[in-house]
Amino acid sequence: MTASSPHAETVVDLGAVRHNVSLLAARAPGAAVMCVVKGDAYGHGAVPVGRAAVEAGATWLGTCSLQEALDLRAAGLSGRLFSWLDVPELDFVPGIEADIDLGVSSLGELTRVAAAAERTGKHARVHLKIDTGLARNGCPPSAWPELVEAAAKARGVEVVAVWSHLACADELGHASIDAQAKLFDEAYDAARAAGLDPIRHLANSAATLTRPDLHFDLVRPGIAMYGLNPVPTDDDLRPAMTFRSSVVLTKPLAAGESVSYGHTWTAQEDTTLALVPAGYADGVPRTLSGRMDVWLGGRRRPVVGRICMDQLVVNVGNEDVPRVGDEVVLFGSGRSGEPTAREWADKLGTIDYEIVTSMYRPRVRRRYVGERA
Ligand SMILES: *Cc1c(COP(=O)(O)O)cnc(C)c1O
Repeated sequence: MTASSPHAETVVDLGAVRHNVSLLAARAPGAAVMCVVKGDAYGHGAVPVGRAAVEAGATWLGTCSLQEALDLRAAGLSGRLFSWLDVPELDFVPGIEADIDLGVSSLGELTRVAAAAERTGKHARVHLKIDTGLARNGCPPSAWPELVEAAAKARGVEVVAVWSHLACADELGHASIDAQAKLFDEAYDAARAAGLDPIRHLANSAATLTRPDLHFDLVRPGIAMYGLNPVPTDDDLRPAMTFRSSVVLTKPLAAGESVSYGHTWTAQEDTTLALVPAGYADGVPRTLSGRMDVWLGGRRRPVVGRICMDQLVVNVGNEDVPRVGDEVVLFGSGRSGEPTAREWADKLGTIDYEIVTSMYRPRVRRRYVGERA
């Protein structure tokens, strides 16, 4: 690596993103696709990923916060944008002016959106959210009739959609899925009865891949567009993110000598170590000390001793000893045998969503490949 090279980098393959979005679109042929790019596109970078998703056929991008949607608009993404999480004091005016569709879960929110619409002189496009059982945001069924009545009457408000979010879509056959679908149908019927003519959207990645009956007019995949499959289907999704670094030093270690803080690992025989400039400040969890491999020189090799803030040490043995500058893959697509984000997640007792989303670090360069020319 040159002096300006980072110690570690994430490489995001936009070709993989496009491939995954096309695959999801093909799996939901009757529905439009809203690619969810909240959390800086699950750590992959909202603007480049959003562009790639649109190139591959997504007609909507979804974000959690309004600011995330405003940032996409400011970056030139001109298609439909939807943001759904209200916070007290949130000013809806910039969102309405930027033509961002807004999720609405309560009468109070509806009132504030209508007031903001009046100030802008534009219509606010809202998607009314029914809480069908996730118990996060969303209007409880008991308050729903009042919300749809008010929305039908509200001036300056155009109701685009009725929507909800599933709690257990990744557990195939979980009874809650059908229970939520039933409440969703009832909420839709109530909206129609109030005189509204909304589209419907409910499906996350898991439901997009496994529940065609729940695709409705629009699907909202997130994790699958990054190539991580939340359900055990054999869809050819391609993980878009690779986390890599390189060897900066190799050195011999004699039998009986120990490695890194606390001397938690001791060589049983003479060996060679490779030093990699990536540590917990770069997103390598310290609790993976002694429990992870890296891909180096065409095979897996174990990380030994404690992972430090800035460095980790790999035991490379005495054959095919890597050289300074050789690539080290911490996780990638898994296609060659390298560790994956899923493997890290399984070891850490979490989900791959959290692994990739937490990879955005000031010191870790993010680089894109597979951009469309
Ligand atoms: C995060 C999110 C999604 C996408 O979920 P995945 O499991 O990543 O596909 C869809 N809809 C809402 C409301 C979300 O919060």
